[in-house]
Amino acid sequence: MTTDNQQFIQQLTQKYPLITQLIALQEVSWFNPNITSLKEALPYVGLSADDIKEASDRLTRFAPYLALVFPETAITNGIIESDTVPIPTIKAKLEEEYKTPISGKLLLKKDSHLPISGSIKARGGIYEVLTHAEKLAINAELLSTSDDYKKLASPEFKNFFKQHSIAVGSTGNLGMSIGIMSAKLGFSVSVHMSADARQWKKDKLREHGVKVVEYEQDYGVAVEQGRKEAESDPTCFFIDDENSQTLFLGYAVAGERLKTQFNEMNILVDENHPLFVYLPCGVGGGPGGVAFGLKMAFGDHIHCIFAEPTHSPCMMLGVHTGLHDYISVQDIGIDNITAADGLAVGRASGFVGRAMERLLDGYYTLSDKRMYRHLGDMNTYEHIQLEPSALAGLIGPSIVTNNTEYRNRLKLDDTKMCNATHLVWATGGGMVPKQEMLSYLEKARHEKAKV
Ligand SMILES: *Cc1c(COP(=O)(O)O)cnc(C)c1O
Repeated sequence: MTTDNQQFIQQLTQKYPLITQLIALQEVSWFNPNITSLKEALPYVGLSADDIKEASDRLTRFAPYLALVFPETAITNGIIESDTVPIPTIKAKLEEEYKTPISGKLLLKKDSHLPISGSIKARGGIYEVLTHAEKLAINAELLSTSDDYKKLASPEFKNFFKQHSIAVGSTGNLGMSIGIMSAKLGFSVSVHMSADARQWKKDKLREHGVKVVEYEQDYGVAVEQGRKEAESDPTCFFIDDENSQTLFLGYAVAGERLKTQFNEMNILVDENHPLFVYLPCGVGGGPGGVAFGLKMAFGDHIHCIFAEPTHSPCMMLGVHTGLHDYISVQDIGIDNITAADGLAVGRASGFVGRAMERLLDGYYTLSDKRMYRHLGDMNTYEHIQLEPSALAGLIGPSIVTNNTEYRNRLKLDDTKMCNATHLVWATGGGMVPKQEMLSYLEKARHEKAKV
């Protein structure tokens, strides 16, 4: 590290003592005192309910096509949505482990088991590919929004999309969603994969005819290279995970969908029935978009908290210092190396941080060891298999319950907490091959044995 850098870190830690703990890779939490109401925050997001409605309508138009080409989506008529389920057994175990009662309900959002690509990226990633395809086809006068979109499965359309290409940089799951969807439509697609991306994800994409470019560096480099490739090819569309509003809106549709599910489950969300949502965060688009959709659907009584690995706390760092994408975890000497591959991001999205900081109650970091332990617990007590990233939210309810400053500030008293719902967003794992899952479970046993 250079002297310049050391001076920068010294100034930063003087101003923000929390950074010292981040650098020491401690598990920390920070609840932002500067949050505002949705009404005050909306102008900073720059998107509206109409934008979400447009995304939702677009997904409805594509649903008959999706049901046709991905038969696993036929039972939901081509709507890509996940179940929300209670996890009472692990709740009791968490209360025991953290010696903290979790009042209210504990639920799991199983985006891990979304069809087509088995992660939260099946929301934003697929949506952006569909948006691009629709625009191309409409501009070429091959499609109108009143058509039956099943026609997109015809050879005529495949040949049309073949003349166009798509590129993306990814730690794995975004590449899976974009790659599988683009290849299905007929696009030639390249996925630029960072070093941490799992081999099976690369293999699977190649099976689907996707060009996979591998890097020995992290996500930031993979994205940069993808961007460069796209710039040199006028037929190539680059999907920009760091800045895309389209991706963000694809995620945001989750809000109205969850509202429908909660109505069916008779779960109330209002001033006396707060909802806490714990979202694993990488670059921020997924959890940010979901959080935006949830706020728009439920209003001010929903509380979103982001979870990041101790080795990749890019969003907490960006928002806490106000430097957003002007700072990376590497700038303060953190390596961005984590088993939570979907969260291995060193520099947060500047768009998401700036748009959403007023609407996110808090941020915390957790160790890989803890994710592995919870991966094992989730398998043992709820028989649900997840990838490490997807476990980041599980300690969230204990962190909220133990933070009296935060709960007092928001007037979340014991009565309200008794009526609360805690929703842990499980972001990936449904498509992890058996052998890979067994090795995750082996690591989980190993970590468990140490405590
Ligand atoms: C991508 C991903 C996330 C986080 O999404 P970002 O948009 O990168 O913040 C969380 N969990 C899993 C499993 C992911 O693949």
